Formats: sequence, structure tokens, C-alpha cells
Amino acid sequence: MLPAVLVVEDDIKLARIVRAYLEGADFRVSHAATARDALRIAEEELPLAVILDLGLPDKSGEELCQELKELGDMPVIMLTAKSSEEERIAGFALGADDYVVKPASPRELVYRLKAVLKRYDGGAAGSRPLSFNNGRLILDSKRHEVTRDGRTVTITPTEFKLLLTLASAPSRTFTRDELVSKALGYQFDGYDRSIDAHIKNLRSKLEDDARSPVFLKTVYGVGYLFCGEQDAL
Ligand code: CA
Repeated sequence: MLPAVLVVEDDIKLARIVRAYLEGADFRVSHAATARDALRIAEEELPLAVILDLGLPDKSGEELCQELKELGDMPVIMLTAKSSEEERIAGFALGADDYVVKPASPRELVYRLKAVLKRYDGGAAGSRPLSFNNGRLILDSKRHEVTRDGRTVTITPTEFKLLLTLASAPSRTFTRDELVSKALGYQFDGYDRSIDAHIKNLRSKLEDDARSPVFLKTVYGVGYLFCGEQDAL
């Protein structure tokens, strides 16, 4: 299943309208009316993007935005009645990728969502390279290039997508099914062993010792996670 756009909005009527427009533009949509539900859903399905109402019953949208960004690198469009310049700037400072002021035109929202996704094109990590463990491992999604200890690693597009998916959310465990749908882009019912083969190849390219991996860890009975200290760029 393709990842969904998560609409976080406690105004159910507005949420319904936004959903209808997004679905009309061929997006899959999940909805949360509280920050708590939003975090749970975001953790479960790592959404394509989040449309986030700032006025939520259980938490400020600003706070939620930060927590979502910590879960994974997903674009966030803030939807709010707050319209002063200071408030918009504060939103961007928290990592919002765009800002739509209520009353919002759903068509504008869809347009902005597409624009934000286009900027994110090339992988969940956006265009800035991801660097880990003091530059030991660098993923450049613009060039589709991986550098390990200063040397370029030959990597297939599938391996790159898989690595990028994992490294975009360090320490988050991904199930095999999730990795198949997010990294390989198709749905697979049942137990897919192809992920294991790709991970094995990646380990042989990235790890000093593929049998005791530092970056790509197995979570037994569940799937895989990426381990690495992300460097500030
Ligand atoms: Ca609200």
C-alpha cells in the first residue's frame, strides 16, 4: 500500500473536506483528531506527508510537529488560523515545510502538498545528504550516492532506496512489509525474503564485519533498523 497523507485535524467537518480533496487527487489519507492518535499513526505507517492543524485538543501543533520530525523525515504542512508573520516564522523554525492559513482552500492545500512532495522527491530525506558517525557513512539522495569512509560505494537503486528509508528514521524498527512497500514500492502479502537478500548485500558493502553489523541491525522476529549517530550538517 502506498504511504498515506496524514491529516491531523480535530474539526471533523474540515477533516472530511480535506480528505475528499486529497482522495480526489489520488492520495491515500489517514486521519487523526488528536496529537496522540497522530503520533501513533505516524509511527505505524510513516506517512508520505502530514497536514497538521495547530489547534489540537491535547497538545500544541507546534510541539507535535517537532515530535513528528523526530520520528522520521516527513514533510509537514501546517494548517492554522494563526496568520501573523511571527507565527508563520515560528512554524518554519519548528520544521514545517509549508503553511496554509485557515480558512484554507482545499485546492490550494492539494497544490501546496504536491509542491512540498516535489521538493522531497528523490527520497524521504530530501536533498541534503545524510551523514552518520562523523562522516563514516554519507547518503546523498540527490546523486544517489553512498560514501563509506570517504569512498564511494557501488550500490543498486533498490539498495539505495532501502538504505535511505531505514536511515531517514534512525533507530526506528521497520517490518519487512513496510520496507517492501516503502523502499521497493509494491505490495506483498506474506513473508518477503527479498528484503533479507538486499540487507545482506548492503551489509557486505557498508559494514566492516557483516556478521556483527554496526549500521544495519536485525530486530529478530520483526524486521530491521538503522543504527547511526546523525551528524549535524
Ligand atoms: Ca483545531
